[in-house]
Amino acid sequence: MTGKTFEYAPAPESRAVVDLASSYGLFIGGEFTAGAGSATFKTINPATEEVLAEVTEAGEADVDRAVAAARRAYERVWGPMPGRERAKYLFRIARIVQERSRELAVAESLDNGKPIRESRDGDLPLVAAWFFYYAGWADKLEHAGLGTEPRALGVAGQVIPWNFPLMMLAWKIAPALATGNTVVLKPAETTPLTALLFAEICQQADLPAGVVNIVTGAGPTGQALVTHAGVDKVAFTGSTAVGRGIARSLAGTDKRLTLELGGKAANVVFDDAPLDQAVEGIVNGIFFNQGHVCCAGSRLLVQESVADEVLERLKARMTTLRVGDPLDKNTDVGAINSAAQLARIRTLSDTGDAEGAERWSAPCTLPDHGFWFAPTIFTGVTQAHRIAREEIFGPVLSVLTFRTPAEAVAKANNTPYGLSAGVWTEKGSRILWMAEQLRAGVVWANTFNKFDPASPFGGYKESGYGREGGRHGLAGYLR
Ligand code: NAD
Repeated sequence: MTGKTFEYAPAPESRAVVDLASSYGLFIGGEFTAGAGSATFKTINPATEEVLAEVTEAGEADVDRAVAAARRAYERVWGPMPGRERAKYLFRIARIVQERSRELAVAESLDNGKPIRESRDGDLPLVAAWFFYYAGWADKLEHAGLGTEPRALGVAGQVIPWNFPLMMLAWKIAPALATGNTVVLKPAETTPLTALLFAEICQQADLPAGVVNIVTGAGPTGQALVTHAGVDKVAFTGSTAVGRGIARSLAGTDKRLTLELGGKAANVVFDDAPLDQAVEGIVNGIFFNQGHVCCAGSRLLVQESVADEVLERLKARMTTLRVGDPLDKNTDVGAINSAAQLARIRTLSDTGDAEGAERWSAPCTLPDHGFWFAPTIFTGVTQAHRIAREEIFGPVLSVLTFRTPAEAVAKANNTPYGLSAGVWTEKGSRILWMAEQLRAGVVWANTFNKFDPASPFGGYKESGYGREGGRHGLAGYLR
């Protein structure tokens, strides 16, 4: 069979299911309120560059107000409330997320650029699952193996990135509320909308005022939040550079800190792996969510004896990827989240060319407006290349080869990061051996990018510390 056998008809999801306001205030003390200053910023659809809404930029006075509201709610209502009562609110939030999931998925794809297929079938089910899972823990904390009388920390200041906006919110807010903490959360400046819709859900669920507060803004707002004297716990997900700065600014304070940072995961394919499945795993590992994934399999390590065959099949598979309108249900790869991120992907890819690696991009027509980058692989990559060491955070795969399992381990671990890894082989014993050798928080075997609320997730080395998800995810919010 050669070429495409048929064309897809457009299958657009309706945007009419989302009713966005033209402007949004801050969500403080259970209400949407104006900021103390007049600063605002626009959030745009990265697939079209169309302005979606104007959002308030919170200043120090606003952060102060939000932290005070969270403190009051912690002391008067949420802290003293029995776990079984807190659980009811979390179950209610989970159910409302399910009821509104189509609307939330469309809003996420509009603001982030990710394909609707992923926001609908990936992000949203996991958001609901995270609230259901932690709702179940709220009245069982003394059985979590974290002491007989675990106590909440108080007010959590939480800062999240733009790649999985609502999912990162759920990872942060669900365990914090289940353990009796109140929160002030700052979404990323390019993707604030689903956090603001989540604020509406808190109102709909009759969540007591001040238990969840959402402040929008960029780095300075985040900095004001994490350094605020009234915050007892800081939870940050984002880049290693910013995480390092936060750790530095909190040193010497009694604030608790968890950091979920960057990654440069190895996806290791042995010669006995089922190659077609491995190719699907490679594609999922690096092209899922446009490669804007902290645990993306951005370094392919393939055993030399099957390298040519794997690359041939990979290129054939990449040729069938559909890049384009995120709201089209047939789209596999959507828009890059921002002009700044696109510039970073281009710069790093250009260093790949300059350092002598060989670039191949899937043939596809990119739209005229918006931010786009064709799925790309680099071969002939060495461990010294920047594209093998630095996180590109885009749909770009660096391919390296190895001859022996020991060489695969050495190359996989040759990174300052340690968030995730993948292993493809038919041998169970090799999977267990590799999982022991690889310095990564998560090791997937014959699959990639699988998430579950019951399973802890987090890094080693420059990928951060602390775990989110599972019983381990409770520990970061308890004394
Ligand atoms: P980023 O660090 O630039 O921004 C993350 C968040 O921090 C944003 O909300 C931003 O406004 C805020 N921020 C920026 N400067 C700040 C400061 N000085 N103080 C406090 N907050 C500040 O990262 P990004 O570009 O939005 O996200 C991409 C990064 O996130 C990648 O490195 C990726 O690997 C990482 N990430 C990690 C995980 C994980 O679980 N380990 C998950 C998703 C993303």
